Amino acid sequence: MEHAAPPAWVMLAYLISGVFFILALRGLSSPATSQRGNRFGMAGMLIAVVTTLVTHELASLPEIVGAIAIGGGIGWVTARKIAMTDMPQLVAAFHSLVGMAAVLVAAAAFLNPEAFGINGSDGMINPVSRVEMGLGIAIGAITFSGSVIAFLKLAGKMSGAPILLPLRHVINLGTLAAILGLVGYFTIDQSPWVFWTITALSFLIGFLLIIPIGGADMPVVVSMLNSYSGWAAAAMGFTLHNTAMIITGALVGSSGAILSYIMCRAMNRSFISVIAGGFGAEAAAGGSEAKEQRPWKRGSAEDAAYMMGQADSVIIVPGYGMAVAQAQHVLREMADLLKKEGVKVKYAIHPVAGRMPGHMNVLLAEASVPYDEVFELEDINSEFAQADVAFIIGANDVVNPAAKTDKSSPIYGMPVFDVDKAKTVFFVKRSMGGVGYAGVDNDVFYMDQTMMLLADAKKMCEDIVKALQH
Ligand code: NDP
Repeated sequence: MEHAAPPAWVMLAYLISGVFFILALRGLSSPATSQRGNRFGMAGMLIAVVTTLVTHELASLPEIVGAIAIGGGIGWVTARKIAMTDMPQLVAAFHSLVGMAAVLVAAAAFLNPEAFGINGSDGMINPVSRVEMGLGIAIGAITFSGSVIAFLKLAGKMSGAPILLPLRHVINLGTLAAILGLVGYFTIDQSPWVFWTITALSFLIGFLLIIPIGGADMPVVVSMLNSYSGWAAAAMGFTLHNTAMIITGALVGSSGAILSYIMCRAMNRSFISVIAGGFGAEAAAGGSEAKEQRPWKRGSAEDAAYMMGQADSVIIVPGYGMAVAQAQHVLREMADLLKKEGVKVKYAIHPVAGRMPGHMNVLLAEASVPYDEVFELEDINSEFAQADVAFIIGANDVVNPAAKTDKSSPIYGMPVFDVDKAKTVFFVKRSMGGVGYAGVDNDVFYMDQTMMLLADAKKMCEDIVKALQH
């Protein structure tokens, strides 16, 4: 049975939802328009879902509504309960679901091709559909197992350090070649063993590609898996003959790929070496054990309030710890008080600060920090040399000078803020023992001009605000 083309109005509705998704991405490219972008995205999704519901063929309406109620219910409860700091692992978990959905759709189509209208006149599955199915299952399975490993690493349930297998590049390349070869062979032989071997090898390669990645390369992996989940959805769209899924999947896939590329550039990494797995991993072992007893200075909230109150310019560098402490609101209060004293305050955002792309921008926007005070790394880095104070709050890896000088460091090569050039550095973190995501010591703690403000970031900002008010 060949699949009949959907009615013209359905194609038009899907096209409109596709245009809305493009407008959504456009809106999301700037904090100022992101809310409007989200609304476009929701409207596009509504049009796509309603159109699909009205034209459903594969399941009865009660079945579809029941599935939406269960899935939507779980999503609703999860979204309400999730802490902002757990968002990255939640996103990774959601990517894994998209991957698994693609695997299940491909498996269902393979087991019951009649129902999907992909059988040719000879009763066999169309060779083109077999390619779509093979690629769909491969991308879906890689997305699933890769995202599960990313979830475990981001949630701290598995060490963030790279796990290195001997000969991993040979094994990875061999497995990838075998998958591609089998997808090709699947077009001439649709035996179940071919299909299930592609599935098993793809689950394996997802796992193999992500376990060697650690330290500073995780952000690239998160955005790469985001991209894969889009391509997995697009592949599902081909199997299901659903134009909206193809458009949406391609949009997510390509925007995720562009984001991965931008992250690679920001991290000074080559895209190929990150996706090949384990970039910088040989060096990673040399990390945290090199901790010696070196002298450092402890400061107080009053010291910070006094010095910053006297300063001409203060650059605030927020990082993951600000998100943990939810210190963004009181940080803005602190900045407002400083501005009243005539101090120039700017925020410096590193592309990988926090645990997901744009993490700091979201938090600062939530605290209504004016966008024109927020600067990207390349726009502000040269200003540290003229700044009176660098106020580092919950950031660590993104200000670690080892990235510039220590070839054995897992973050070597990543551009970092030149906070060491500021006249005075305040470094807010809870303890001298705690390290950043990459697990390495930081020379900034021990510099002459650094004062460590050891406390929870929110508490420290509250104390500084009190001191400034007095
Ligand atoms: P880091 O993870 O390097 O450092 C976080 C710092 O915050 C630590 O020094 C920690 O020290 C401190 N901290 C934690 N909780 C608190 C708290 N409640 N109050 C005060 N301080 C606190 O953060 P960065 O933002 O500098 O760097 C991000 C890292 O995460 C990079 O290595 C990046 O590669 C990685 N990553 C980024 C992703 C992304 O997409 N942005 C995704 C995955 C990984 P202490 O415990 O002593 O308080």
